[in-house]
Amino acid sequence: MLIGAVEAGGTKFVCGVGNENGEILDRVSFPTEQPEKTLAQVVAYFKDKQIEALGIGSFGPINIDRESSEYGYVTTTPKPGWTNYPVLPELKKIFNIPLGWDTDVNAAALGEATWGAAKGSDSCLYYTIGTGVGVGVFAEGKLLHGLVHPEGGHVLTRRHPNDTYAGKCPYHGDCLEGMAAGPGIEERWGVKASELPQDHPAWEMEAFYIGQALASAILLLSPKKIILGGGVMHQLHLFPLIREQVRKNLNGYVASAAVEAGIDDYIVPPGLGDNAGLSGSIALGLKAYQEAQ
Ligand code: ADP
Ligand code: ZN
Repeated sequence: MLIGAVEAGGTKFVCGVGNENGEILDRVSFPTEQPEKTLAQVVAYFKDKQIEALGIGSFGPINIDRESSEYGYVTTTPKPGWTNYPVLPELKKIFNIPLGWDTDVNAAALGEATWGAAKGSDSCLYYTIGTGVGVGVFAEGKLLHGLVHPEGGHVLTRRHPNDTYAGKCPYHGDCLEGMAAGPGIEERWGVKASELPQDHPAWEMEAFYIGQALASAILLLSPKKIILGGGVMHQLHLFPLIREQVRKNLNGYVASAAVEAGIDDYIVPPGLGDNAGLSGSIALGLKAYQEAQ
């Protein structure tokens, strides 16, 4: 069975075809432009692909309330042309197959729970730390939705004592995203994040912020695994620094070996690597197909 997948990002779209085992058989990528042009490229790609379902993991914020007249819209993004744009309704006009729709990070969480680092588990969090910070929540076997969807990239953080940087979030300044996403790191230090040496103080500061957010998420949601992806997490030396901060913040309070001796297997990179997003969209498509049977 062939399943289409769209990883709809603010800077690029990745489209691919996979199967029910999560294998990616083909993919293309193109820059995100005006929505009409971008969706026309999506439609053209899938036209001859014989897909039986399509999953779309989208940049946000998006409307995921099936009862809403604006279900499937990208909502309050400042991205030119995309504000209140009906992405899913436009695709529905073309594709008469089950369509799955969720945030890019919820999709990645589902992909990791289906085929990746949390395979077989009913609970995980997926963080992306890249151009922005986003969090997908898979809890009790379901992707978490609520008032809107989790926006864990914008939680407030306590400042690092040596940090005078104002923060890069246009809404909150020094929220987690403002302090820890790639653009904030680069503006604070005046160097590309990929070029900062491992012993640079930037990384201890980065782990300080991420470690706070993770400790709060553990206390609030009690996830069984935390997966950290996105460009910044290519710096694998961040993992031990983050685990140390989490342990320090929790200070032995949470009664589980997972956050103590087992922490190396608890806070981990994506099992699906950089395919977490696209595989996650395949998982969304598969779920939509199964729900339609
Ligand atoms: P996006 O979030 O747009 O989907 P990425 O997850 O690739 O894309 O994140 C891009 C950001 O990640 C950039 O702002 C850059 O600062 C940072 N980044 C990319 N590669 C690395 C790297 N090897 N080390 C540290 N930071 C990186
Ligand atoms: Zn913010």
